[in-house]
Amino acid sequence: LVLSIHVFPDQVADFSGEVMVESERWILGETVSTKERLLRKNGYYIHKGDVAFQFINPVEKVGTPEEMNYLNMERFADISGKEILEPLDYDIESIRSPENPDGYERASATIVALARNEDFDELAKTILSFEKMFNAKFQYPYTFLNDGTFSDNFKKGMQALSKAQMEFVTIPESLWQMPPHIDKKKAKQQMNKLSKSGIKYSKDFSVNNMLRFFSGNFYHVPEMKKYRYYWRIEPKVSFFTELKYDVFKYLQGTGKLYGFSISLYDNPLTVETLWPETMGFLNEGSNFQYVNKKGSFQWLTENQQLPGVNAKANGYSTCHFWSNFEIGDMNFFRGEAYSLWFQHLDTTNKFYYERWGDAPVHSIGLGLFADKSKIHWFRDIGYFHYPYYNCPKAENTRGCLPGQFSESLELQDRNCLQNWIDYSIDNLNKIY
Ligand code: GDP
Ligand code: MN
Repeated sequence: LVLSIHVFPDQVADFSGEVMVESERWILGETVSTKERLLRKNGYYIHKGDVAFQFINPVEKVGTPEEMNYLNMERFADISGKEILEPLDYDIESIRSPENPDGYERASATIVALARNEDFDELAKTILSFEKMFNAKFQYPYTFLNDGTFSDNFKKGMQALSKAQMEFVTIPESLWQMPPHIDKKKAKQQMNKLSKSGIKYSKDFSVNNMLRFFSGNFYHVPEMKKYRYYWRIEPKVSFFTELKYDVFKYLQGTGKLYGFSISLYDNPLTVETLWPETMGFLNEGSNFQYVNKKGSFQWLTENQQLPGVNAKANGYSTCHFWSNFEIGDMNFFRGEAYSLWFQHLDTTNKFYYERWGDAPVHSIGLGLFADKSKIHWFRDIGYFHYPYYNCPKAENTRGCLPGQFSESLELQDRNCLQNWIDYSIDNLNKIY
């Protein structure tokens, strides 16, 4: 017997409402995980491994995937045609850059960059552009993280680029290294398979270590613990917008938990069972209670634009916030819901057997455990990481083409920002 329970997102919202069990309607009470009660009611037997608490996407089909993609592209172009400047949902005047950064009372925040000594040249370029566009005015401290040791040249060279404080940190091995119980042979086989599909990997598993570190550990680095907010930057990225307000104080003032710039589909081969494993977690004990009633369920389960991708990822749209740019509240990741879920994910070993990335992991965590109105599209920040852009039409943005998502037409259908706008933003005009 295959049992599937379809819970509509807004009804999941209060854990009550109508539920479909094999085409029969049942009213769901407080206790979905109430699994048992529900099953008894229906006289069904549930097989080991079956999932009782799950989300399905209730969106009506509007067209073929090609039509959906075209439609979304057109609508995104329309939106991008509007001139914007700064967020409208907060008193930006109250968080303007100070005349003099020396006496400025900063938020509890750091700019964080993971790098190796050989990344110096590329990271230096990022820092120079970042200083020019934002940090020279605010002087938020930098935290450089490395699984190895930063050389004196790296440290001296970096410090010469900014007046802001800098800390150079070697990540504790326990937060970085592959856990000892991983079967290296099995992991290697999977990475070889992925490499044939053009997915980035490394023979020494350093890519896996890096993805797992960003997924569940960067905010536990001792030197990071003194901060609440972070802005992640990387080598080889560009910033196009001259920012004149304090983005950390914007998050703090609005109570927002996370800000992103670009949102795109992932390669489902790297996250084949991330969604089912997550459903497994939600079905353990009373874990379903961690789900935020105002989560981004439709965005997570969307299957209109690239249905094949959703199918390969077993119900996850693979839409994610691109994590090379993140401005976030680490208290969210340090919190109970995200921590327990990450621990569950980690015990599956699939950061190594499947190559789960930190971007989909952060995104699913946020989509499930955060109120969607607390996730912010930094529409105003022009940004590029090969091969994708966020480029606003704004007077303080120069050097990119407004609305451009990618230089390559073939990659246009990877953009899923329109879905975020449709499903997770109440009224975009109130935010920008
Ligand atoms: P991609 O954008 O997904 O291709 O990944 P990147 O190569 O940009 O890596 C992401 C970030 O992690 C960058 O800031 C890199 O400098 C850094 N990084 C990646 N692998 C390692 C590693 O093994 N050690 C250290 N210290 N940094 C790494
Ligand atoms: Mn990168």
